Amino acid sequence: MWVAELRFTLIADTSLSRAEQAIRHYLECLIFQGQMLGREFPTYQTEDGFISRLLVPEPEALQQHWHSQRGADALEQLAQAGLGYPQLRLLGQDLMANHTDPCAEPEALIQFCSFSAMNSVLYCAEHFAPVPLYRLRQGGDDFEALIRWQLQYQALDEIQMQQDRVLPRQAELSLQQFGSALNKMGYQQARALSAELGKPVYYYLYSGSSHNCALEAEKPCPACGGQWRLEQPWHQLFDFRCDRCQLVSNIAFDCS
Ligand SMILES: [Zn+2]
Ligand SMILES: [Zn+2]
Repeated sequence: MWVAELRFTLIADTSLSRAEQAIRHYLECLIFQGQMLGREFPTYQTEDGFISRLLVPEPEALQQHWHSQRGADALEQLAQAGLGYPQLRLLGQDLMANHTDPCAEPEALIQFCSFSAMNSVLYCAEHFAPVPLYRLRQGGDDFEALIRWQLQYQALDEIQMQQDRVLPRQAELSLQQFGSALNKMGYQQARALSAELGKPVYYYLYSGSSHNCALEAEKPCPACGGQWRLEQPWHQLFDFRCDRCQLVSNIAFDCS
């Protein structure tokens, strides 16, 4: 992950609100295509334009050929708002963040989300490193639904991490229960992406606490009821994997 500056230079007469709106729309398109990470993009005015501060998954993330259709349109609309083609300046690598997956084309993916990670929720199944979303699809629809799922997942995960929770059980149940609206939505997205890409997309089902630790290690796959316990944890995190349902999970953290 890299910290970067995107400079928008004024090239024609415009109003502050038109320019601001065009920049906001373009940056939101970058977020929904995974070209920019997080939700915040502090933007300030300079003598000859505007500068936005952002996080990108890799140095070439903002190249035009990675754009969605909506992103490409938003780029054109910058000119109509009196702004030139945006110029990227990389400031440095984010030392706190995960490294982006090195594979040109991962053979399988894991959809995995946690409250603190701003990176892509799709990880290479071999390296367990985040895969930028724009590498999976360009020029068409973006990943808005997946990003919106990630935001809701992280909000609930954030709540259930707190000592004094404002939603004592609901947040954890949403994360843990395979049938919750959150997991239904996420699992459907993983299935649809797997069909589109023609490769496995495993969905991670979180397990935080359990009523019965004696049974926890033997629990069946919640989708097919089959055996899915692994002899050795996968990526030191997943104790369960069902290849048929493309689901992974862990032994509840309070039982391990
Ligand atoms: Zn990889
Ligand atoms: Zn299964």
